[in-house]
Amino acid sequence: MPGTVLVTGGSGYIAGFTIRQLVAEGWTVHSTIRSLDREQQVRDILNVDNAKLRFFAADLMDDAGWAEAMAGCTHLAHLASPLPSASPRDENDLIGPARDGALRALRFAKEAGVKRVVMTSSMAAIAYGVDRGEYTFSEKDWTNLEHPDVYPYVKSKTISERAARDWMVANGEGMEFCTINPSMVLGPILSPDFSTSLEAVKKMMDGSFPGAPDLGFCVVDVRDVADLHVRALTAPDMDGERFFAAGKFFKLHDIAMLLKERLGDEAKKVPSRKLPDWLMKIVAIWDPVARQVKSELGKVRHADASHAKEKLGWQTRDEEQTIVDTARSLIDNGIVKT
Ligand code: NAP
Repeated sequence: MPGTVLVTGGSGYIAGFTIRQLVAEGWTVHSTIRSLDREQQVRDILNVDNAKLRFFAADLMDDAGWAEAMAGCTHLAHLASPLPSASPRDENDLIGPARDGALRALRFAKEAGVKRVVMTSSMAAIAYGVDRGEYTFSEKDWTNLEHPDVYPYVKSKTISERAARDWMVANGEGMEFCTINPSMVLGPILSPDFSTSLEAVKKMMDGSFPGAPDLGFCVVDVRDVADLHVRALTAPDMDGERFFAAGKFFKLHDIAMLLKERLGDEAKKVPSRKLPDWLMKIVAIWDPVARQVKSELGKVRHADASHAKEKLGWQTRDEEQTIVDTARSLIDNGIVKT
């Protein structure tokens, strides 16, 4: 079955593990990066059979390079999308590349005769903009964009997934399309240029947090998310599908306690105390990250990922081990000094 697949955003965290698995399973991989100046650096990080991997320069906001990248591909895994640590001043700086980049990838895929598209959406497109203290979400749910607490990244993922699905209905004849919707992706890093999603564990480990705010998220391992992408690229009957890629919910304080228990002295800078909500609200006055997550305080969002397990035979690692592996990898790569 393996053929030629385009993976967009080859410099990215999830894309790196996805490319590794695809090459290991016999695929020829094309991948986009913004500039070929980074090609050697990305090749060194991926460390796969170079004969199986070709890079093309392409930006989400520009047509240049996309036709060349897509040529000869039967499959597309569209992962590239901005994932900043704080909201930009103008939300369109996120929404534009996410939405227009997805539509651009679909348009060029159709022109090149691609048969199957797997797009990386997010739990952000499923579970936000709802005033529920504790709730279990599934693929049937959609983020409510009318809610005032919905921040720009959440908007960018919701709008881009919706736009891609609408485009497929209008133009997608002959192509199959599905999305993978991951929760917070953790796991070992491939390089010091790791994804924003690992920041919370890094900040816990390096003592940047004086205490754990009452925030939490569902954890999923990057290796399992990559594996789900590969399964969705190859399984039969995928058109229109949506797969939650999410595991157990953890509060930051639970993560702190786990790191202390499992890493001992290496986790000595991890805070033991909880940060009260009132303090977070004060910090949010000057700190843009705290401002972004202020409305998340106290919320518990569980994810029902049974669909991917039943339909695709997806299996996941133990989430506690994933959290420990994340911290261990940050230490081993010199990102966190203990
Ligand atoms: P990442 O490491 O930050 O990767 C993002 C990729 O997108 C990078 O390759 C980046 O290129 C590329 N990109 C951003 N803006 C671009 C532009 N204008 N033109 C071309 N490429 C652009 O993040 P990740 O965690 O692997 O995320 C991959 C996908 O998973 C994204 O769609 C993200 O929304 C989704 N996701 C991630 C998580 C998570 O917790 N990590 C959870 C749910 C969904 P540069 O290296 O040049 O910046």
